[in-house]
Formats: sequence, C-alpha cells, structure tokens
Amino acid sequence: MKHKLELLEVESVAKSVIERLNITNLPICPFSIAGERGIVTEPKDSGKPGVSGLFIKAGDTFRIQYAKHIKNEGFIHFTVAHELGHYFLPEHPEYLFRGRDGIHESKSGFISDDFYEKQADHFAKELLMPEDLFLAALRESGVGFPAIISLASKCKTSITATAIRFAQFAEDPVAVIMSSYNRINWCFMSSALASVKGLRWPRKNSPLPPNTTTASFNRDQTNVLSAKQIEAWTRLDNWFDDAPPVEMKEDVIGLGNYRKTLTVLFTEDPITVDDDDDNDFLEIGNEDSGWKWK
Ligand SMILES: [Zn+2]
Repeated sequence: MKHKLELLEVESVAKSVIERLNITNLPICPFSIAGERGIVTEPKDSGKPGVSGLFIKAGDTFRIQYAKHIKNEGFIHFTVAHELGHYFLPEHPEYLFRGRDGIHESKSGFISDDFYEKQADHFAKELLMPEDLFLAALRESGVGFPAIISLASKCKTSITATAIRFAQFAEDPVAVIMSSYNRINWCFMSSALASVKGLRWPRKNSPLPPNTTTASFNRDQTNVLSAKQIEAWTRLDNWFDDAPPVEMKEDVIGLGNYRKTLTVLFTEDPITVDDDDDNDFLEIGNEDSGWKWK
C-alpha cells in the first residue's frame, strides 16, 4: 500500500512539472527542463558498466551527466529525465547525498531493483509521456510493436518505457516482458490481458519458457548486444500458466550492453475464455471487461 501511494506521488510530481512549465506538445525535452532549473547537462565517459547517468551535487548546484556510450536519443532523454527525478522527487536529494556533496550513479531503464532508482524510472516515464499527450498520440499510432516504435520516436523516449506506458493504456491484450539470459526480470500487462480468467503472472526471476523465440534469442548473447530485433508468433499458454491457447505476436528486441531483452506479446483480438465451471463463454477485452480510457 505504501509503495502504491508513493508511485501516485511520483506521478503527481511529474505532472506538476509539466503543468508549471505549460508544456502542451510532444516530445518533452528534459534538457530544457534541466536548463530552466539551472542544472547543467552533459555527456560523460562512463566509468562503470551499467551506469547510464550521474546526478551530482556541489553545494547548491546540481549537474546531470549521461553516459557517452548511449547512442540512442530516446534512451539519453530517458536517462536525463531519470536524473531529474532525483532532483524533483521529495526526499531523493536528501537520501542520495545526505546533506553532503556527492555523485549518485544511476542505472536507469527499469533494470534496477533499488527503490529510489525505480521511482526515478517511473518519474521519467511520466515526465516524458504525460497521460493526456500520450493518449492523444496513442490513438493515432495503430497497434502492437510498430505502434510502440512510433510512439517512442514521437515522445523521444526509450523503447522499454514506451512499451510499459503503451501496455498501461492499450485496449488490446499486451504483455511487456524484460528478461536476461534464461530468466524473466519482470512482466507488465495491459488490463485486457491481466483480467483474463485463470492467467497467472510469472514470478520474478522465473525461467523463460524454453520453447519461445525470446528464449532462443537470449541463448545467443550477440543478439542482445547487437540490439537485434525479431518478429515471431507464440501462444499465450507458452508464457503464462493456465492461460488459454491464444496466438500472440512475440516481438523481441535486444537492449545492448545492459544484456537485457524486451519482449512484447500482443494480439488485436479479444481473448475468449471457455469457462469450465458452467460452460458459459466469457469475453475478455470487450466493452464489458472493465477496461476504460482513463
Ligand atoms: Zn538514479
């Protein structure tokens, strides 16, 4: 419960930054927001693997550095927005620096289990893809993975953050899954998918289903490192225990040096579940399923 409230607080802080600056168009530029606060942003040779950015405090001034090795503009924007999260979110500067000067090393992009890193990632997602502007863009962006790619370019943010935001608002059944090697790191589902009767969420660090394109993709780490992209098909019950045997697109993309892989499962068709108890048919994903535009 506490965690949930804090996430809502993160959303409202990001929203108030956007409203205060009267931003009404995509893409949102995190560099301008930093500049408006007198925060210098600059590229920097990254010392440690996995470190995407630094948030630096010197007296009353703050500085943001992002790793030079990041070539993807969307991920640079996401990283800078993550550091802005450490600036704007209550308690972050106090927690990270404890009143002294210092350097915080960030691992942004939904790869860290640290509570403050997760909050900063969440802030970045909300800052770069505000609900109203994102929903307007979503309505013009089609379906599935091509829509995610198009929205990432429209919002200038990372594919991972865009995929999560997409699943949050998509009408269709969508799952976004982060994996490394043969393990599932996390899974995020659209409400149309999460509400499918009988479907069980995979546990954190549970094994990737071996007979999937993602599993074979990850067996050759050059696919991951070279950011290769594959489009395939799968069945929902390959991925989720007790799910109906529905055909789903399985789009897979390697996330490079982070050695993580992003998988998006989706279908445009509502999922129909044969109810064993009374032989009725339950339509999931239609108007009655409880899904609504927010
Ligand atoms: Zn951080």
